[in-house]
Amino acid sequence: MAIEEPRIPSLDPEDWQADRAQAHRMLDDMLDHLEGLRSGPVWRPMPDAVRASFDAALPMEPSTLGKVHEDFLHGVLPYSTGNLHPGFMGWVHGGGNLAGMLGEMLAGGLNANLGGRDHAPIEVERQVLRWVRQLFGFPASASGLFVTGTSMANLMGIHVARHAVLGSLGSGSAQADLVAYASSAVHGCVPRALEMLGLGRGVLRLVPTDGCGRMRLDELDAAIAKDRAAGLHPFLLVGTAGTVDIGAVDPLADLAERAQQQRLWLHVDGAFGALAILAPRLAPLLAGLERADSLAFDFHKWAQVPYDAGFLLVRNGELHQAAFASPAAYLQRETRGLAAGSPWPCDFGPDLSRGFRALKTWFTLRTHGLRRIGQTIEQTCVLARHLEARVLSEPKLELMAPVTLNIVCFRHRGSHADALNARIAVDVQESGIAAPSTTWLDGNLVLRAALVNHRTQTSDVDALVEAVLKFGGR
Ligand SMILES: *Cc1c(COP(=O)(O)O)cnc(C)c1O
Repeated sequence: MAIEEPRIPSLDPEDWQADRAQAHRMLDDMLDHLEGLRSGPVWRPMPDAVRASFDAALPMEPSTLGKVHEDFLHGVLPYSTGNLHPGFMGWVHGGGNLAGMLGEMLAGGLNANLGGRDHAPIEVERQVLRWVRQLFGFPASASGLFVTGTSMANLMGIHVARHAVLGSLGSGSAQADLVAYASSAVHGCVPRALEMLGLGRGVLRLVPTDGCGRMRLDELDAAIAKDRAAGLHPFLLVGTAGTVDIGAVDPLADLAERAQQQRLWLHVDGAFGALAILAPRLAPLLAGLERADSLAFDFHKWAQVPYDAGFLLVRNGELHQAAFASPAAYLQRETRGLAAGSPWPCDFGPDLSRGFRALKTWFTLRTHGLRRIGQTIEQTCVLARHLEARVLSEPKLELMAPVTLNIVCFRHRGSHADALNARIAVDVQESGIAAPSTTWLDGNLVLRAALVNHRTQTSDVDALVEAVLKFGGR
């Protein structure tokens, strides 16, 4: 006689039918939100009561899925950054896209760990790596992987650079003499990466820029010569494709030339700018990028993949792997079975457990196609030109930096212009009409509109201009 064993309770639904209905409601609600983005403000401040609701006690007892979702609908959804909204122009945020969101949902369902082992999700990531290599003209021996973002990819790229130079110098050689170069417009994560790697931010020489925000080669040459004369060891040149403040692109072909002559590792921070390679009219700006030793960029900015999806590409895959190699008994590789498929992604970075960022990227790239994504990138640059023209035609406004790509820095004229423009930025954000950010350029606080969102229209840019004029006139 068969004895029925008591079932061990799992975390799966007790009532699949009910949870299925709830899951469909959640998907529908998010689709409604995406479809109706324009009907709401870009951003709204969070009321104190909502903020206080996040100070709840430890959730020892269960809630229904429906109750938790309701709290999300009331407490989270309305008070998010606003980067989905076509009026969002602050910082450099991607707008996301439905195909990417659905890919992320499927990835959550699969719950794949892409640290290693032999399974299809890793093949998806390898597929994206092959596409990335091809896109940027890197050889088949180049390695790469998804990481959180360009901050992490820069850190890892610089780690590989240091490992390569110390390896080439032989054991026992000191890293105390190493020095690095980047333009003064380099992103703050680069000096921080040098700090985190134990080299210290003091090793970074900040090379002055020209009137267009690009690294000056004469200044670079002078800095290298001075360091060599002092007995120091230049090892790294960081070029930026799309500076975070004004969107400038360093002269990458010249930097590649210098790197070769001076035997420096050329790392390019192309966080958002590298993907201009997808837009035929912008791609020539990136000439020389194909000669970089390593490249960091984000799919979550201009390519609109949902956060987070950064990527590191390294020309010399062997050096890359050597820089992160750390054998462990429980990570033994085999030629058959689940432990096959070496090398694994965990051999190329600091993370062992890794999520399936590749899937939302694969969905985004395949669903829209690269040509279409390139068109949206180009469109944001057309909008930037429109904003530049509007600023130049308004006597009360002043253009504060040349427009290379998709970032426009400008300000409202007036006495105490710094305080005035800081107030305008906040007023415009709180109005819900648009969301510019601010930055400092040559000692001036300026309004900064980074046009990244694929949903932004000319009328949204015009609304920003009108709002700045309105709040500036108060
Ligand atoms: C955004 C950005 C970064 C940082 O990238 P994250 O993905 O936010 O970590 C680095 N450099 C530049 C030029 C950027 O625009």
